[in-house]
Amino acid sequence: MTDFFEEGALCGVLTTQPLDRLLDYRAPEGGCATGAFVEVPLGPRKVLGVVWGPGRGDYDSSKIRPVGRVLDAPPMRAEMRAFLERAGAYTLTPLTAMLRLATRAPGLGDPPSMRKVYRLGTGVPPRMTDARRRVLEEAGALGGLALTLGELAEAAGVTPSVVKGLVTSGAILEEQSPRDTAFPRLDPSHGGKTLTEDQAAGAETLRAGQRAGAYQTVLLKGVTGSGKTEVYLEAVAEALRQGRQALVLLPEIALTAEFLTRVEARFGARPAEWHSGVTLTERRRVWKMVAEGQAQMVIGARSALFLPFRSLGLIVVDEEHDTSYKQEDGVLYNARDMAVLRASMLDAQVVLASATPSLESWANAEAGKYDKLVLSSRFGAAVMPQMRAIDMRGEDLPGARWISPTLAQAVTQRLEAGEQAMLFLNRRGYAPVTLCRACGQQVGCDHCDARMVEHRFLKRLICHQCGESKPVPTKCPSCGVEDKLAAVGPGVERMAEEAAALFPEARIAVLSSDLFGTARELKAQIEAIAQGAADIIIGTQLVAKGHNFPALTLVGVIDADLGLQGSDLRAAERTFQLMRQVAGRAGRAERPGEALLQSFQPEHPVIRAILGGDEEAFWAAELDERRAAGMPPFGRLAGVILSSTDVQQVFDLGNHLARQDGALRAVGAQVYGPAPAPIARVRGRHRVRLLVKAPKGAPLQPALSDWAGQVRLKGDLRMAIDIDPQSFF
Ligand code: ADP
Ligand code: ZN
Repeated sequence: MTDFFEEGALCGVLTTQPLDRLLDYRAPEGGCATGAFVEVPLGPRKVLGVVWGPGRGDYDSSKIRPVGRVLDAPPMRAEMRAFLERAGAYTLTPLTAMLRLATRAPGLGDPPSMRKVYRLGTGVPPRMTDARRRVLEEAGALGGLALTLGELAEAAGVTPSVVKGLVTSGAILEEQSPRDTAFPRLDPSHGGKTLTEDQAAGAETLRAGQRAGAYQTVLLKGVTGSGKTEVYLEAVAEALRQGRQALVLLPEIALTAEFLTRVEARFGARPAEWHSGVTLTERRRVWKMVAEGQAQMVIGARSALFLPFRSLGLIVVDEEHDTSYKQEDGVLYNARDMAVLRASMLDAQVVLASATPSLESWANAEAGKYDKLVLSSRFGAAVMPQMRAIDMRGEDLPGARWISPTLAQAVTQRLEAGEQAMLFLNRRGYAPVTLCRACGQQVGCDHCDARMVEHRFLKRLICHQCGESKPVPTKCPSCGVEDKLAAVGPGVERMAEEAAALFPEARIAVLSSDLFGTARELKAQIEAIAQGAADIIIGTQLVAKGHNFPALTLVGVIDADLGLQGSDLRAAERTFQLMRQVAGRAGRAERPGEALLQSFQPEHPVIRAILGGDEEAFWAAELDERRAAGMPPFGRLAGVILSSTDVQQVFDLGNHLARQDGALRAVGAQVYGPAPAPIARVRGRHRVRLLVKAPKGAPLQPALSDWAGQVRLKGDLRMAIDIDPQSFF
């Protein structure tokens, strides 16, 4: 294959426009190489693209236009192009959409952007003030290093105008400097901890894998607090020594603050960050520095997998079982699986870390596809908390109250001992249902088949499906009767109210994703709580994810049965993981912890498995059930969601597809449905789903493309295909 196109030669360019094919252009003056980022004319516009290969030459050659310009960005490597192709084929995503994922940094080809920086000069200001003196002292202490206006002003504790005022006399110099600067070097030998025997053995296995420089996936399993992070940081250290880059994926942005501090302590400098909370200019810097090898380590959300690493040697997927790794809109991919794919194409190592691995990873380790490392005890004095069920059938609890006397007493004891307690309820808002006591109707969303959830802090009803919100009405929207609307059931905000009544002296903090405007506010709140700013923490599943609260010794689960309802394939697995994860929050430091699970069915096998802690038995039983049903990982699934504003139209299409299933049957796959999706209407669109089930080795994706390709989507019909669906809504 040609790798370079001389001026005028025909090349095929992949753009980020939804066109579903390569477009032919002529190479510009000076030619262009395969992989080059280019700007090409498309109709009246100029769009971003990548030279993908030779042109097809099937277009009227007199109409073929030249490439506008080759951008000043590192070309996309062959390995990255192959990864996008394979990931796209796996998820049935058009390549153009894959390219959008890989170019989520604005102004990639712009000339280096500059910013003003300030450092100490030799001039003398005509008039000296305290504030001015502080600026000059700070600037002097930097030894010639330049800071931005904001940074220098903040360091000196003055307003920016004070710094500006020193520029005229030359006491402070104002200069231009490129914005996209290299990240500070990380030192692999800076600050390692002395590892326990278990940990050291695990670290050595990972290091040996790094040195081998071959593809390998390791499941690193260990209870919360056993030192998994310490162990995989040693794999990062080895990757750095080998001159390769490392990527650590975290499931939750709010976890990055604490993690960055740990990385800095270990390697002496901060790594690059990549997630939705990072500014656009910083994203561009990260993208470029990653491509140039000037960012050795990236901490990021799942989309960091599509960064243009120059030499990636390690991908860590922390809390690998976490459902947020599955992208649920746009491109439907599972970051854990894509990490394994990318690593296998790069001879890199993957570390999947979790206290409660996903059933898939557990099965892959059992089957010998993944290596397995187990850390069996918590570090130091910390032990796993005692877990007990509170049988709610025997508790004396008035209506509209959810904290049982037994749990309340346990909380009181912890508070008296000066420790923290957590109440866990996986429900945002004040109450899940608003009911009219006059007509019996529940307040629903106008656009979705969903109830509106009352959020009392915001004084609004919110639809958790589409985000629509309205003020809490005083009149029933159905019957019009005044003052008869009642909140039914608990949400975290209501728990906070109940806790405040039960424990009037306690400082109560609610952690729920909707209560914080920005990731930064949430981070700050979590840090404050870790420092002891609250006695009782009330939270949704946000609190289950890896935060470290040293004084927390009691976790009370308000409704352990919540996740067991519903028909989801993964309901048991999810509940098991979530409960173990939440319980793992208690007793991380020297003080032993306790977890109390309020349940109306303590004899349920999942609740018993959680309490008994016999994980192997739980996984084995789950696996047997899946095997018997031919479900993943023993079979393959694809979810198909059809939607339209016209209900008849979606069902007609669903029925048509279900009948025309030849392409699927040819590979041994079966279609189930159409059926109304569990949430049958979202944003005014009716939703119908089909489920495709295939034997394990079946070539499902090509069959699905053929099958779906038989129909043309007319009007506002949409079809989304979800390979390996994680949830079924
Ligand atoms: P995990 O990732 O399994 O939850 P961490 O790596 O976060 O566990 O370890 C839990 C706590 O114990 C952290 O504060 C960590 O710094 C500390 N820790 C773990 N191992 C060691 C060690 N060998 N020496 C000192 N501190 C350790
Ligand atoms: Zn809605």
